[in-house]
Amino acid sequence: MSSEQVYEMLWDCKYCGTKKLLGKTHRFCPNCGAPQDDEARYFPSDDEKVAVKDHVYYGADVICPNCDTLNSANTQFCQQCGTPLADAEKAQLVTDEQVIADGQSFQAAGSSNVAQKRYDAKLDAAGLSQNGQPKPRRNNLMLYGIMGLVAVVILGGLAAVFWKRDTTAYVTGHSWTREISIDEFAPRAQNAWCDVMPADAYSISRRSEVRSYRQIPDGQECSTMRVDNGDGTYSERRECRTRYREEPVYDQMCYFTVNRWGYERSVRADGDSVNDEPYWPDTNITQSGTCIGCEREGDRQARYIVHFRADSNDYACNLEQSAWMSMPIESTWTFKVGVLTNQPDCNSLEPAGG
Ligand SMILES: [Zn+2]
Ligand SMILES: [Zn+2]
Repeated sequence: MSSEQVYEMLWDCKYCGTKKLLGKTHRFCPNCGAPQDDEARYFPSDDEKVAVKDHVYYGADVICPNCDTLNSANTQFCQQCGTPLADAEKAQLVTDEQVIADGQSFQAAGSSNVAQKRYDAKLDAAGLSQNGQPKPRRNNLMLYGIMGLVAVVILGGLAAVFWKRDTTAYVTGHSWTREISIDEFAPRAQNAWCDVMPADAYSISRRSEVRSYRQIPDGQECSTMRVDNGDGTYSERRECRTRYREEPVYDQMCYFTVNRWGYERSVRADGDSVNDEPYWPDTNITQSGTCIGCEREGDRQARYIVHFRADSNDYACNLEQSAWMSMPIESTWTFKVGVLTNQPDCNSLEPAGG
């Protein structure tokens, strides 16, 4: 919803001091005859505003390049001196913030000092602040700092992954572990929205909980905005938007028990020699099948570690069982080691001198 109304801007005559002249009606000061100056225009307070009836808008006024008189955008020659206005500059618009919420009113802005603003804008463009000091470059320094830091992190990450040296090492020992995880079929407490509860749930209790939110229209939020048209008038626009509030939507949450498989325990076997032949540990499952308290085997995991020594560094590689068995104690091997991380690259393992 919006409505628009046009009113007169105000201006003060800087030659004779007459105040609150009308921007559209008084193109020249009725007191001394001086032409209106676009830089002297300002918005009136709500009490002072004068409506413009049947306003026709041609665009912002143009400024005569010869005598500085403001002319309507639809005139071709200056009404004061007759100079052609084809390439004339447009009038400066007043850009002061002009928005209020409902229940507030506009205060008189007073003659805005556009000349000072233009001067400040020029200083700003030249990189100078108003007291003539160069602007601090702190933001830029910070940006470079962050970029530098990011570069260091990226380079560091690349070096950690790719910067490697060759090492020759001899085998000092072997170790292995084999592990089986055991699942148990047991009652387990769970919860779900009642409409998606598992069919075999039991011992169910329900509770009302917030499942989502919906948007409820909750009155209107209106504001009034004023925009300088640049032809001695401004437009006042009132705009309203529907305001919404969030309202919780409740649903039934079910708390229940279901009988499900789940991790219960692990069994593990280990050894520290190739002669100590790897075996899977006894699971000690007493009840199998599907009953409360029944158990079954879950995941199996095996690790076959070869231990190396080079100079004063110890390394370890987790290998396939066949490779692990074929690397005798004191045999020598070469592999790559991360310069920063000191981690061996076990995929690069090769017999030394071969
Ligand atoms: Zn005057
Ligand atoms: Zn002129």
